[in-house]
Amino acid sequence: MSPSDEIASVLAQGKRFLLVTHKDPDGDGIGSMLALGRSLTHAGKDVLLLAQDPIHPPLNSLKGAHRIAQAPPARGNFDALLALDCAERSRLGEFAHIMKDCGLVIDIDHHLMGEPFGDLNLIDPECSSTGELVFRLIEEAGLPMDSDVAGNIFAAIQTDTGSFRYSNTTPEALRIAATLMERGADPWEISNKVMHGHSLARLKLLEMALSTVELHHGGKISTMILSREMFEETGTLQSDSERFVDYPRFIRGVELGALIRETGQYDCKISLRSNRWLNVASLASRFGGGGHARAAGFEAQGSLEDVKENFLMEAGRFFDGKGG
Ligand code: 5GP
Ligand code: MN
Repeated sequence: MSPSDEIASVLAQGKRFLLVTHKDPDGDGIGSMLALGRSLTHAGKDVLLLAQDPIHPPLNSLKGAHRIAQAPPARGNFDALLALDCAERSRLGEFAHIMKDCGLVIDIDHHLMGEPFGDLNLIDPECSSTGELVFRLIEEAGLPMDSDVAGNIFAAIQTDTGSFRYSNTTPEALRIAATLMERGADPWEISNKVMHGHSLARLKLLEMALSTVELHHGGKISTMILSREMFEETGTLQSDSERFVDYPRFIRGVELGALIRETGQYDCKISLRSNRWLNVASLASRFGGGGHARAAGFEAQGSLEDVKENFLMEAGRFFDGKGG
């Protein structure tokens, strides 16, 4: 039996499922969780959706987002835990311990690295997004798909492919998007929810962030900085900086774009993007992080200045070693 056949059979036989996604949840994780959750609910299953961080705008406008709980249930007894878009156990953060309360752990993901941690693993790094894997699973398992399920899978694929522009956009992702439209997904409605609809405060934050953009390493590396002060001054959240990293990354001649965000006192989060050849998942893994060949990230301890300096030193070395 293929992994998706085995998972389909667990979903058919089980009654109670727990769905989780990674910390700092993104559109792919949330869209996938909402879609699979609704489909399973319509199939008569008891489903709990769990995220360890509140769902902030714009993702909280996805259909069903208000049903996502933030605290684990007192009672376990789930037939299976489905981890969506999680890359590795550590990305489950504080929820990793819940696994023992679940009969089976099912890992559904499209990341490049890390050991699959599930009892059953549906992993395909060639896939544009976890949303695409959820689409396949729902189809193959014969689970229901209404327009809300289709819309949330569309949102998952759209956010992870940068609206079907990034290099993870495949013919298959586009074919699935077309099928999702036929099942009732409305690209304009979803775009307005997850890609547009920003606050003025976010634009003010972007203005500050743009003023920090610098080129390094002969114009091949570009950085952007966001300090806690900037978030405070504009009244914005960390989640308001989603996709800011595209600005340094899309400067002509740049191969590696980095957004360095201060998330706490001596805590930083670094988002990495590359355009053609540099393997940022491999670069991020040098700092204990991971991701995909063209999009990755890691956390670092230290002041913004120290983290930036340390990152640039290591990135420069990695570049010169032709970090593929
Ligand atoms: P973003 O920069 O949008 O937060 O993340 C881009 C990609 O890198 C995502 O696929 C995400 O899974 C991965 N990523 C981001 N931060 C981390 C991290 O701290 N650890 C790991 N393993 N992957 C990360
Ligand atoms: Mn993803």
